[in-house]
Amino acid sequence: MGKPTGFIEFLRELPSEVAPADRIRNWDEFHLPMLEENLRTQGARCMDCGIPFCHTGTVISGMASGCPINNLIPEWNDLVYRGLWREALDRLHKTNNFPEFTGRVCPAPCEGSCVLGITNPPVTIKNIEYSIAEKGWDEGWITAHPPTKRTGKKVAIIGSGPAGLCAAAQLNTAGHTVTVFERADRPGGLLMYGIPNMKLDKQEVVMRRLNILEAEGVKFVCNTEVGKDFPAENLLKEFDATVLCTGATRPRDLPIEGRNLNGIHFAMEFLTANTQAVLDGHPNQNYISAAGKDVIIIGGGDTGTDCVGTSIRHGCKSVTQLEIMPQPPAERAANNPWPEWPKVYRMDYGQEEAAAMFGDDPRVYTTTATKFEGDEYGQVKAVHTVQVLWERNEKGQFVPNPVPGTEKVLPAQLVLLAMGFLGPEQPLLDALGLDRDARSNVKADYGKYTTSIPGVFAAGDCRRGQSLVVWAFNEGREAARECDRYLMGSTDLP
Ligand SMILES: Cc1cc2nc3c(=O)[nH]c(=O)nc-3n(C[C@H](O)[C@H](O)[C@H](O)COP(=O)(O)OP(=O)(O)OC[C@H]3O[C@@H](n4cnc5c(N)ncnc54)[C@H](O)[C@@H]3O)c2cc1C
Ligand code: SF4
Repeated sequence: MGKPTGFIEFLRELPSEVAPADRIRNWDEFHLPMLEENLRTQGARCMDCGIPFCHTGTVISGMASGCPINNLIPEWNDLVYRGLWREALDRLHKTNNFPEFTGRVCPAPCEGSCVLGITNPPVTIKNIEYSIAEKGWDEGWITAHPPTKRTGKKVAIIGSGPAGLCAAAQLNTAGHTVTVFERADRPGGLLMYGIPNMKLDKQEVVMRRLNILEAEGVKFVCNTEVGKDFPAENLLKEFDATVLCTGATRPRDLPIEGRNLNGIHFAMEFLTANTQAVLDGHPNQNYISAAGKDVIIIGGGDTGTDCVGTSIRHGCKSVTQLEIMPQPPAERAANNPWPEWPKVYRMDYGQEEAAAMFGDDPRVYTTTATKFEGDEYGQVKAVHTVQVLWERNEKGQFVPNPVPGTEKVLPAQLVLLAMGFLGPEQPLLDALGLDRDARSNVKADYGKYTTSIPGVFAAGDCRRGQSLVVWAFNEGREAARECDRYLMGSTDLP
């Protein structure tokens, strides 16, 4: 370790960003690059703590603690401090196929468990990861490496999200012939059609990596829904193994009065059509505009945040985000100690933009919608809300109870439902006759990924439920390892 006193000498510093009032004029990424010398200083803050919890990747109290792909964080922090960028990139690629994606969109559970974070602001791990990856692209170090030998085995991967892409990259490296089926018109899963362009650029960043995968020999078959456009039973006939990476895309609905009114949509309908419009240069028939509208987003999580940022870029009149849970505390609560993920109040990019435009954080906590009200044309015009109090019921469970006298009626011409996801879509799983777990996910043990059908594996959100990109990476890589072992009898994949 190059700088034993770095954590005492240097303060945490993040890159600057384009100001919210300026960046909402376009769909570009808004983080500005950091000077190399400042990045080295940030790398020097890593304190060589001895037990780097940052790369443990365990689950504590239901949340990730440390990096789920076990990135060798202290090693590349030190390499960056010493200016050894090429070595840092090689070290990063040992555990992460696509660090430019996690460097942009990962919530960084590593930073929540950084040992320095017990007493000081943690090391800027995510930004260092981003910077190593971008240095690699800028220097031309990231190039296609097709396998030197092919095994003759054919693998189908269903779904081209982060789990499918990692599985494809790993299985291709092992020499198998990999075909990735994707029902959307472009590959990438939620990297392409979920996370908005300002958070993860599609042409410059996602396509850049997909082109490398193609050059390495991975075949993408888009506009093809397996189970509909390609018969499910053919998977077992035409391929030696299959890895299901279909995601958990079934949205949670809100079946209250007025749900059938026009102008009420699932968040993903809004976000997907928007990214299609950004990429195609023009909206298609599915496009939903927020321009000039009072927008109410139901759900205070990340998907809701993306709806806030997107609505603002459309030029909405106002935006409100309803969240049924209470506002988190400013500091870790006593029952949320390090190294758990810190459940604290944060302003994400969408809320910052809303605050710059309309003066305040758009989230309204402990509040739920009770009814949608429409006009004479069947178009939503208002959302009725009530505050809730979380109390224990007779079974001892915490439940939200409405607080009398707190009812409100908020104007709304566009309502977006962003209340999470219920699990994978079932038709393909039914067609294959796969066992499911109690939450309707594909039944397959973590670490094994084998389903009830030999030679069929499952990874990512379709196995664990809607989660994070970095967990999808973890599962895609590990499922590839198990698939390779199944095909070859042993495996060298990590
Ligand atoms: C709006 C939004 C924003 C998010 N932002 C973040 C973030 O900032 N950071 C983060 O870490 N996580 C984020 N997440 C979560 C993250 O995107 C997911 O956990 C991750 O993408 C899951 O990866 P996956 O490969 O399992 O599935 P997905 O990315 O969902 O990909 C599944 C793919 O399978 C395809 N598919 C499904 N069925 C079939 C079929 N029968 N035939 C062919 N193709 C099929 C789908 O079209 C899709 O492309 C976000 C999620 C959403 C919804
Ligand atoms: S992938 Fe996420 S958790 Fe892992 S080092 Fe990067 S930012 Fe941290």
